[in-house]
Amino acid sequence: MSTAGTHTSIPSLTETDPDIARLIDAEQKRQDQTLEMIASENHTSSAVMAAVGSCLTNKYCEGYPRKRYYSGCEFYDEVEELAIERATRLFNCRFANVQPHSGANANVGVFFALLEPGDTYMSVVLSDGGHLTHGSPVNLSGKWFKPVHYPLVYDESRPDYGYIDYDAVEKLAMEHKPKLLMCGYSAYPRVIDFERFRRIADKCGALLMADIAHIAGLVAGGAHPSPFPHCDVVTTTTHKTLRGPRGGLILTNSEDLAKKFDKAIFPGTQGGPLMHVIAGKAVCFHEALQPAFADYARQVVTNAAALAEALTGRGWHLASRGTDNHLMLVDLSRTDPDLTGKDASLWLEQAGIIANKNTVPNDARSPFVTSGVRLGTPALTTRGMKPPQMQTIADLIDRTFRSKGNADDLKAVNADVRELCRQFPMGH
Ligand SMILES: *Cc1c(COP(=O)(O)O)cnc(C)c1O
Repeated sequence: MSTAGTHTSIPSLTETDPDIARLIDAEQKRQDQTLEMIASENHTSSAVMAAVGSCLTNKYCEGYPRKRYYSGCEFYDEVEELAIERATRLFNCRFANVQPHSGANANVGVFFALLEPGDTYMSVVLSDGGHLTHGSPVNLSGKWFKPVHYPLVYDESRPDYGYIDYDAVEKLAMEHKPKLLMCGYSAYPRVIDFERFRRIADKCGALLMADIAHIAGLVAGGAHPSPFPHCDVVTTTTHKTLRGPRGGLILTNSEDLAKKFDKAIFPGTQGGPLMHVIAGKAVCFHEALQPAFADYARQVVTNAAALAEALTGRGWHLASRGTDNHLMLVDLSRTDPDLTGKDASLWLEQAGIIANKNTVPNDARSPFVTSGVRLGTPALTTRGMKPPQMQTIADLIDRTFRSKGNADDLKAVNADVRELCRQFPMGH
């Protein structure tokens, strides 16, 4: 991939649509010149992008391999079978549906397969790190079903402060008897105890679901415990730590459930599968099955630990006091009561550091303002950065947070960000 800002690799686009070609070039340049620290983002490989940009976009393949509604699917059957086989090998399970267009679609498929409208299920308090699709009142998961939310440990005198409050999960589960118990989060910095969740699910008679959208790459690379064999169903995205194309995935060991999920995705909730994206997923799984991917996953975690320590050393408070995985939440209010997540993320952007505002556990501010910033290391690690760079970046972030939004200060930070980016060009 060129860093010069010209896309000679797609001359047909430049010719046909110079407006879009120019915007793609500009976006490539933005990615090259900024530090991508949104915990859910990554830089996928040129091999994945080649598959996603291929002629496989042209075909209707409604149905599943060898059971299609249209002719001409012979090569697509092989593509999807390869994707399925690789996904099950990568995650150590028996069945995979590789057709969900996104993580949200994978979750809709699971709800459609396992729940009736009005059924009760359990997930974390959304402002404590949950996802929109885990019961938000504006989402189908909250409108058509009855979510009961479990808390984190908020008591700072406890050693498990900021962890899932497993005792509270058990108590609520016995009280509400949910059909489905969900774990897996969007902003949780600790390891998930799948075994403990299994015991609770067994005790209250629920099916256990893990949504590993964020940590899929860590699980695949052995840097986070696997949800299998403990979970009945696992959903994920393929574009976060797993570093593939944008998409979703449903995994299970149960043949009976696998059949239900297949029906729930097609014809239940989706039409024709995105076969070019499924090819991209197959490439991504192939890459993640290589030994080098385990090194990547470990490095993501090592880098996050180094960044967490460096930020703490500069006086910043992290939710749960640290991280075990690829992300951390800086609770700004502990250090500067006036600094909001909204301002901090805006200043970071002006400095060329891309991160998002985020509620912190027990946040007093609304989700539009917040008291926190979420930081992740997956994309930085893809660029080849290591703990020494995490020290440098902690310093850049610290300067930004303390800048009070001063334009000259932010400009100076941005110059250093660009220099660091130059030293770590996008690989591909
Ligand atoms: C990102 C995420 C999703 C949704 O993925 P999309 O591809 O954006 O639909 C679902 N669950 C969790 C926990 C996530 O973090």
